Amino acid sequence: MSNLVCDNLKIHNNELYFADRSTKELASKYKTPLYVMDENTLRQNCRKYTESLKKYFGNGAKALFASKACSFKRMYEIVSSENMGVDVVSVGELYTALKAGVNPEDMYFHSNSKTDEDIEYAISKNIGYFVIDNIEELDAINRYAGKKGIKQKALIRITPGIDTHTYEAVNTGKVDSKFGFPIETGAGEFITGEAIKRENVDLKGFHCHVGSQLFDSDVFVRSADTMLNFVSDMKNKFNFETEILDLGGGYGVRYVESDPYIDIEDNIRQVAEFYKKKCSSLGIKEPSVRMEPGRSIVADAGLTLYTANTVKIIDGYKNYVAVDGGMCDNPRFALYGSAYTVIAADKAEEKCDFPCSLVGRCCESGDILQENVMLPSSIKRGDLIAVLTTGAYNYSMSSNYNRIPKLPVVMLDGNDDYIAVKRETLDDIIRNDV
Ligand SMILES: *Cc1c(COP(=O)(O)O)cnc(C)c1O
Repeated sequence: MSNLVCDNLKIHNNELYFADRSTKELASKYKTPLYVMDENTLRQNCRKYTESLKKYFGNGAKALFASKACSFKRMYEIVSSENMGVDVVSVGELYTALKAGVNPEDMYFHSNSKTDEDIEYAISKNIGYFVIDNIEELDAINRYAGKKGIKQKALIRITPGIDTHTYEAVNTGKVDSKFGFPIETGAGEFITGEAIKRENVDLKGFHCHVGSQLFDSDVFVRSADTMLNFVSDMKNKFNFETEILDLGGGYGVRYVESDPYIDIEDNIRQVAEFYKKKCSSLGIKEPSVRMEPGRSIVADAGLTLYTANTVKIIDGYKNYVAVDGGMCDNPRFALYGSAYTVIAADKAEEKCDFPCSLVGRCCESGDILQENVMLPSSIKRGDLIAVLTTGAYNYSMSSNYNRIPKLPVVMLDGNDDYIAVKRETLDDIIRNDV
């Protein structure tokens, strides 16, 4: 029998149930490979943030969904109906959010490399905030806002120089980073002075994002500490009053049994307690807080169902189980060696004594979904395999490598289920070919 990492999973009659729904029935109704998402879990995850931020930071605080974690129209509808704003990092995400009816005032445009076209487009759509990452961008925003005759609201992305002791690839708050302006080198102060001078830019405050998949409650306290010192310095230096302080995202989720469980409400309470004390000791007005969860909103609301195609036993070496999906629908193991829990969904109570690599169908040796997986030794072609906690950075990172059509996203809503994203067809694959 396998380990279950999320509250919304159950094993019953040798079968895996997700949000009390039979995975076998879902697979036979919608075919595999298939992303399944549970709307109730999604909404509960949103409320952990919106309610705790309100409770501990006050009514001005707001949670923003870092939509790069999972971006399609229905997702934007759900998070905005839960009173979250959204982060976008491209005009593609911006366009999707607009089409879903999200108020542009509630959108924050990130990215370290925005083109003039991106900036002009976002301003033409009345985006609420830019999160400025470099001086070229500040100048372009000033120019296009001037052209339109508005003062564009913005935050500046600061790198507070905090080492999160997490994976290198997701550690973005250190001084040496492609993102933001370091405090340590004086760049943060310099850009603040410049932004204040720009006629068509309305600087509202600062942003930082120190990393992802964080389990250490201390990281947000340390970044709040550094950022509030900076806020106070900018007040002394420029008489600049920070209205908004965005502390970024990144609480971790449980991919495997050994990952710790995080109590988000209690974490937010601890950060808020520190925040209030710190503001009062610095004698500054409390900036209104933003937090930007992505992964922890969507990850455990999703899983992926695959069908096993081949079982390959190389005597004396290794075993492989190949499924009908792969790095095209989940590139995270190939990219960062990310851990996932794998379950034989239609043999969920059988003893797992067959060690194997779970691999995909792409023509690429690195197309591995997970190494060192234990499955039942009866595993064979046609069996249903679930990879858990795939709601974040799977659909949004998927590709058409090998011209494999993208998977649909089926959303569960109590006893109902509906298609939130359709399965791509072969004609979709060639739609841009001339
Ligand atoms: C990716 C990202 C987030 C969200 O991180 P998660 O680990 O998905 O919560 C938040 N803010 C910024 C600026 C990001 O780039």
